[in-house]
Amino acid sequence: MAAFRKIKKGALFTQKSFPCKQCGANLVFCADDDALKCQYCGAINQITPPPIPIQEYNFHDALDDIRRSGWSLDNQEKEVKCPSCAATFSINFHTRSTSCPYCHSPIVTNMDIFMPLSPESLLPFDINEKEAKEILKKWVGNLWFAPSSLKQFTESEGKFLGIYLPYWTYDSDTQSRYHGQRGIIYHERVRRRVFINGREQMVEDVVERIEWTPVSGHIRKHFDDVLIGATLTIPRKLADSLAPWDLENLTPYDDRYLSGFESETYQVALDKGFDYAQGYMEYIIREDVRAHIGGDRQQITDLRIYHDNTTFKYILLPIWTAHFKHKKKEYRFAINARTGVIKGERPYSKIKIFFAVAAVMAVLGGFFFLAELDKGNGSTINRQLDNIRIHIQF
Ligand SMILES: [Zn+2]
Ligand SMILES: [Zn+2]
Repeated sequence: MAAFRKIKKGALFTQKSFPCKQCGANLVFCADDDALKCQYCGAINQITPPPIPIQEYNFHDALDDIRRSGWSLDNQEKEVKCPSCAATFSINFHTRSTSCPYCHSPIVTNMDIFMPLSPESLLPFDINEKEAKEILKKWVGNLWFAPSSLKQFTESEGKFLGIYLPYWTYDSDTQSRYHGQRGIIYHERVRRRVFINGREQMVEDVVERIEWTPVSGHIRKHFDDVLIGATLTIPRKLADSLAPWDLENLTPYDDRYLSGFESETYQVALDKGFDYAQGYMEYIIREDVRAHIGGDRQQITDLRIYHDNTTFKYILLPIWTAHFKHKKKEYRFAINARTGVIKGERPYSKIKIFFAVAAVMAVLGGFFFLAELDKGNGSTINRQLDNIRIHIQF
């Protein structure tokens, strides 16, 4: 079976909602129950995803299929009509699910049908918004020199964004040929002439040298599930820093997991994602080559990596994220909604650092002052403090 699905001409953009069996209200996914839950009558509506095994697809076949299809991105905004309040609003071309900006009802679209590839598995949300807020509060509480604006943000009812981000995973069998040099350190005694008190003398130094031997070799390595964020919504560094993920628990894709969360289609193409994956694999292979070369030092002068049996999966992973402003700059953080790992950028409060440094200086200053009183010479105090100032610039 191929991953690629031919895009039907004239395919229609549609949207879905999941009414409660008991009261008809729109259901949202509940992380605590791992099911759809009615926010009004409390009814639990189980999700039974189709028992389809999660497959990996041939990377080159999929690229060929996409190229041959002449697919191009339909980057038109789409008009959505809210099933609850009937308001209409538009969403951009990579939004797969969202909520109504007026009544907050969940909206799940079929935006995937305009893309050559659709996700076939995901990890459902395991951490709810309340827990995510607690994780942020704890993180901020442990930060040194966090400005009060950040603490206020955690106390406020600031909106967190629960979003399924698209990721590629790549598997590959690699074979690498390398040429390089193995360096062995040895020590050599070197005699040289010196003048001591006007008299010529011979002294002996021990000098470290490296003996290089040309080497070449061949190594094989299999990579499994190299994970690459396919989003542009949060910075790649942040998206990739949330690993590890419990990919062994991937569940077959079902629209109902998305209800109540944002989600997007991929924005980093399949081949571009593999470029990033290759960069990561090369980094690991270089480490292996160095170990293979052995010795005390290694040089790699030529490295050729061949990929074979390259396969991929397209998956969605759950994240809580929010951003806040501090002094006109935006800071963003993200939480892995499976493990609770939090990563993010953070501002520093200059005022808090200033007072902390001033307190340290007062203590150190007092210490030096007492030390110098003993010697009866106060001039070195300023020199010492100047040294400290140089190191604590901000
Ligand atoms: Zn209900
Ligand atoms: Zn609405």
